[in-house]
Amino acid sequence: MSDPELQTFRAEVRAWLEANAPPEIRQPHAETCFAGRRWPYSADQRLWLDRMSARGWTTPTWPREYGGAELSPQQAHVLDQELARLGARKPVENQGVWMLGPALLEYGDEEQKRRHLPPISSGELRWCQGYSEPGAGSDLASLQCRGVQDGDDLIITGSKIWTSHADQCDWIFALVRTEPDAPQHSGISFVLIDMSLPGVSTRPIRLLNGERHFCQTFFDEVRVPLTNVVGGRGRGWSVAKYLLQHERSQIGGAGGASRALGNETLVQYARRLLGDEALAADPRLRQDIIDEQIDSWALEIWMERTRDLAVARQLSSTASSGLKVFGTELAKRRSEIVLAVAGDDGLEAGARASHAWLGWPMSTVGGGTTEIQLNIIAKRELGLPQG
Ligand SMILES: Cc1cc2nc3c(=O)[nH]c(=O)nc-3n(C[C@H](O)[C@H](O)[C@H](O)COP(=O)(O)OP(=O)(O)OC[C@H]3O[C@@H](n4cnc5c(N)ncnc54)[C@H](O)[C@@H]3O)c2cc1C
Repeated sequence: MSDPELQTFRAEVRAWLEANAPPEIRQPHAETCFAGRRWPYSADQRLWLDRMSARGWTTPTWPREYGGAELSPQQAHVLDQELARLGARKPVENQGVWMLGPALLEYGDEEQKRRHLPPISSGELRWCQGYSEPGAGSDLASLQCRGVQDGDDLIITGSKIWTSHADQCDWIFALVRTEPDAPQHSGISFVLIDMSLPGVSTRPIRLLNGERHFCQTFFDEVRVPLTNVVGGRGRGWSVAKYLLQHERSQIGGAGGASRALGNETLVQYARRLLGDEALAADPRLRQDIIDEQIDSWALEIWMERTRDLAVARQLSSTASSGLKVFGTELAKRRSEIVLAVAGDDGLEAGARASHAWLGWPMSTVGGGTTEIQLNIIAKRELGLPQG
């Protein structure tokens, strides 16, 4: 698309968003909408989701027949920029949009795409991820949850752990061992499971800060049709790895935004809270803020490249691992600065600054730990010998 065409597109997007984004969605600290049948939508969230989904802008680069708008990467980026300019939240953010959708587009058969992609795009269904098990985290391929074929079905038994928000989700994509005698990575299937089926249950895990982010998810002889296996029986490892690339890019990219800052930059925030005189007297803090700003710009450029690679289906595991490490470490560093600037006020229970500071270290674990990402880069990108 030429520059003038892109400018025309930007003007159209801007006018439409200004006319259609409800007031609540434009608040600096508006709540993320994770959507799905169990989500307690506010009136504005529902309206925003319906309006954006009708245009295909909840999943803008997806094909139209699956709920998207077939925007080019540049157009999708313009949409993101215009949403940010308005301070508007995205209408739906969840693991279906970020992770399962791209994996289904790549590995799903036509029937699976037609059935599962539109309800992700419209926000009707919310998905969770059943990868980790009590004995399989970093060493994911040692998973034991098993699926035994019975006629046209798989009977699934086992449990998953650290399933984010499983008790609020409608479906789960899970890794299941279907060929116990095959080599470790070959006997795994990627299965789509309706959480309302008999035998599926969840038990929330309460965290130290009182939140209930995770669940343990149990499968007790759950009967799932073989048509719900994505990418072929016993070939789920490739699907799983592809999905992880999108998960890691998404987690890394999220390090570019700070909910604790709302619509402010770190510079604006520090100037507002401390005043220029105090800031001028603290060269160490100024240096930290400058480093954060430069790295935030670098992350933006990295994300733009990652988006292009993803749409061109050329995203590599090392690119997404690198983005995850860089983005999450940056966010962790930023949350420390935000807390330092906020001082005692930031430590108050419920304060955004302390919440972000406590929360970001989790992102260096979820989706695979920093150590594992560095191992991937060391092996695949640098060719370093493994210990
Ligand atoms: C916020 C968050 C959300 C999550 N959401 C989900 C979810 O929705 N679904 C899901 O399935 N899972 C989820 N997880 C689980 C996550 O994927 C695992 O916690 C992660 O893969 C690490 O596994 P583990 O906890 O078993 O740690 P372990 O694998 O036991 O690792 C323990 C420590 O040892 C290190 N280590 C392990 N192996 C190596 C190695 N070879 N080289 C160097 N160091 C190593 C690790 O880096 C880590 O520091 C989530 C986790 C978090 C924190």
